[in-house]
Amino acid sequence: MSRYQLMTKDQRDLVALVHQFLKKELDPYIAEYDEQGVCPMETVRKLMDLGFWAIDVPEQYGGAGLDVTTIMHVREAIAYHDAGFCNTFSAQTFGWKPVLLAGTEEQKLHYGRRLAEGAFWSMCITEPQSGSDAGNCKTRAVRDGEEYVITGSKCFVTNGGVADLYTVTASTDPSRGSRGISLFIIDRNTPGVHVGKHENKMGIRTSNTTDLALDEVRVPASNLIGAEGTGFKTIMKMLARTRPTGVAPAIGVAQRALDLAIDYSRTRLSFGQPIGNLEGIQFKLADMEMKLQCCQSQLAYAASLVDRGIYDTLVGSCTKCFVSEAVLDICLQAQQIYGGYGYSREYPLEKLVRDARIFSIYEGSSEIQRYIIGKTLVGKI
Ligand SMILES: Cc1cc2nc3c(=O)[nH]c(=O)nc-3n(C[C@H](O)[C@H](O)[C@H](O)COP(=O)(O)OP(=O)(O)OC[C@H]3O[C@@H](n4cnc5c(N)ncnc54)[C@H](O)[C@@H]3O)c2cc1C
Repeated sequence: MSRYQLMTKDQRDLVALVHQFLKKELDPYIAEYDEQGVCPMETVRKLMDLGFWAIDVPEQYGGAGLDVTTIMHVREAIAYHDAGFCNTFSAQTFGWKPVLLAGTEEQKLHYGRRLAEGAFWSMCITEPQSGSDAGNCKTRAVRDGEEYVITGSKCFVTNGGVADLYTVTASTDPSRGSRGISLFIIDRNTPGVHVGKHENKMGIRTSNTTDLALDEVRVPASNLIGAEGTGFKTIMKMLARTRPTGVAPAIGVAQRALDLAIDYSRTRLSFGQPIGNLEGIQFKLADMEMKLQCCQSQLAYAASLVDRGIYDTLVGSCTKCFVSEAVLDICLQAQQIYGGYGYSREYPLEKLVRDARIFSIYEGSSEIQRYIIGKTLVGKI
């Protein structure tokens, strides 16, 4: 379990509540959900009913208004049980974040309330031809009187199939490249919105990921977030703030892997003794513990900066990149300690490895993080 010694009593109580609930409601069934690639939405909603709806929406807009450090602890605790389930939970408010940064007071009040009432809100940036290169947006939004008409294709939309609302990037002026990108709120029930295929993924299989087709979708002009052409800037600002905590679930996955590896090393016998007695295994465990502590400290530091209103791109990218890669390494070492059973689907390690793989791919791959870090260091960003 999480070993942050600086946790407040409230944080400890929340984390304990998460573990108590998921141990009973999720752990016994998770292998089946993973196999089927489905998210138990009823269980997600039950967990949220315990006080976790809209946790990152400020109280004045109807949410629970938790600080980033507390959200980090909560996500880590959920992912200890299942990273895909945690992704479903965490992405509830993904599409809201640009509204908080650039939306009108009216939008914040209206949509904050919808989230608090139980809506799910996806963020749709990625398109078939461009993920990392998010400025290469082919979805078009054309003004028509008091409406915009939006046409295009989005893919890899987290919660795409279960969302009530979508925030999409769309170009209002293709001649201006990324400076022509704008952000729009789309209600799922709007004619022309089609949820496409669900990705059959390697890991986080309990997280719903779909395509989204937009076929001449008409939205009122009041659904524009910020001014025309400011969408890309808002997205970059948003990612600098969300990256540190976006990777918090990775810590939960690594902690689970380490806990399992320690338990296994105490009971698995080889050459007449528990493998945990062997220095070769102890050194592996020591390396895993060191890496995990570094990840926890770095994440706590990054979260505390955001809680103080300090948005440091360098810290965000370093945290995202380091934690996601270290966590995969920890899971691979734990799998190694499990030997052949680490490779078997009947044992938990292979799932943790599959789940851990995602963190260095989404929300800006490791290569993109290094690109940002390098450019920042030489003063080009
Ligand atoms: C499970 C899952 C959930 C997702 N959820 C969402 C979501 O909710 N909303 C959303 O909008 N998107 C989402 N994504 C998309 C995700 O953010 C992209 O997959 C990711 O940004 C990478 O984009 P890409 O797949 O197009 O790869 P590409 O951008 O095509 O990159 C291919 C490879 O080239 C590397 N590369 C690209 N550019 C550079 C460069 N300049 N320098 C060095 N290397 C480079 C990349 O790192 C990668 O290794 C999700 C993806 C997955 C897998």
